Amino acid sequence: MQPRSPITRDLFDQVMVATYNPPSVIPVRGEGSRVWDQQGREYIDFAGGIAVTCLGHVHPRLLSALQEQAAKIWHLSNVVTNEPALRLAHRLCELTFAERVFFANSGAEANEAALKLARKHAHVRFGAQKHEIIAFEQAFHGRTLFTVSVGGQPKYTQGFEPLPAGIRHVPYNDLAAVEAVISERTCAVIVEPVQGEGGIVPGDPAFIKGLRTLCDRHSAVLIFDEVQTGVGRTGELYAYMGFGVTPDVLTTAKALGGGFPIAAMLTTAPIAASFSVGSHGSTYGGNPLACAVANETLAIVSQPAVLAGVRQRHHRLTEALRGLASRYGVFDQIRGCGLLLGCGLSERWRGRARELLHMGLEEGVLLLVAGPDTLRLAPSLVIPQSDLDEGLDRIERVLRRAVASESSRGEEGG
Ligand SMILES: *Cc1c(COP(=O)(O)O)cnc(C)c1O
Repeated sequence: MQPRSPITRDLFDQVMVATYNPPSVIPVRGEGSRVWDQQGREYIDFAGGIAVTCLGHVHPRLLSALQEQAAKIWHLSNVVTNEPALRLAHRLCELTFAERVFFANSGAEANEAALKLARKHAHVRFGAQKHEIIAFEQAFHGRTLFTVSVGGQPKYTQGFEPLPAGIRHVPYNDLAAVEAVISERTCAVIVEPVQGEGGIVPGDPAFIKGLRTLCDRHSAVLIFDEVQTGVGRTGELYAYMGFGVTPDVLTTAKALGGGFPIAAMLTTAPIAASFSVGSHGSTYGGNPLACAVANETLAIVSQPAVLAGVRQRHHRLTEALRGLASRYGVFDQIRGCGLLLGCGLSERWRGRARELLHMGLEEGVLLLVAGPDTLRLAPSLVIPQSDLDEGLDRIERVLRRAVASESSRGEEGG
């Protein structure tokens, strides 16, 4: 028998397609808002698996939902329906504007479904000329060819041409720019209520409201990409509820399964009617294991006390981060809603978010970036106060070190 070779970061380079460049730390276990690596070092998790593990790691209720379903049936495909999927769709309809639900496995797939539905809907109702999609610069909607094309970051489409056509990009939070390009040819406007990957930029309420008015005026479908903002992240079950603006189509993924892959596209009955049998599909969509876990996640997150807890944590966290910003000067802006926060880096630190993320690992805190100029925090929605405080202490150690290394560098330079 061959001895089992140790699993290390080196193996990544040997066997993985290099679309990522992870640090050498390999977490092996998590509980609540703490994770442990192979060496048993403990970290406070302020990353939440990129806004996914909304109830922390191995939440006891999610664990038993998964185990219970795992003992019953794992997969059926859409050849037959299943109880967890119907239960989840019903609950999503009760809790939101939705009247119809389509299940997928990732945010990109939910957006793919939304964009295809918008195209089909316009085609069926108005004809093929009504096909233009308006999207925003710096937007992120996923990594399929259609969703990177709709996304507003050219670095994700370069080299993948030819791209799907009929997509226009305008600056975010600029209603006049939308007004200038929207027309009877527009089938949809797709927008993140808070731009996530683009740097944690909240939508201006007047902008979001204005999009609703413009879409109504031009019979265009308004799609909210709530893949990152959905399921309690902003302190509302869905961010649209806080804006008081109801979309026609909404996509939800990341936190929906609390760490189990699942996504959904929500819409109204009249729009859903433009898809008929065979229009779209997904082998795994509505998988019973995923839906069982999502049902439990939604049951917990939709409780008013949990959502109020997100808002309360938001205040404590932003206050503490603003204190750190003024003491150390590494951040110059704290942005975001609920527990989706961005620390904008000051002049001197711009472009160096990843450096700070690596220092965070050394100090025992998992952080995220949102572009090169923003440190992003997306902790569990139920993170205990003590973990929040401990994580903040560790961030402070990062900042203290960062400032010290800068000043010694300055001295060396004379
Ligand atoms: C993460 C994200 C996506 C893509 O989700 P995947 O599950 O990675 O496909 C789409 N839209 C937004 C706003 C996101 O944050």
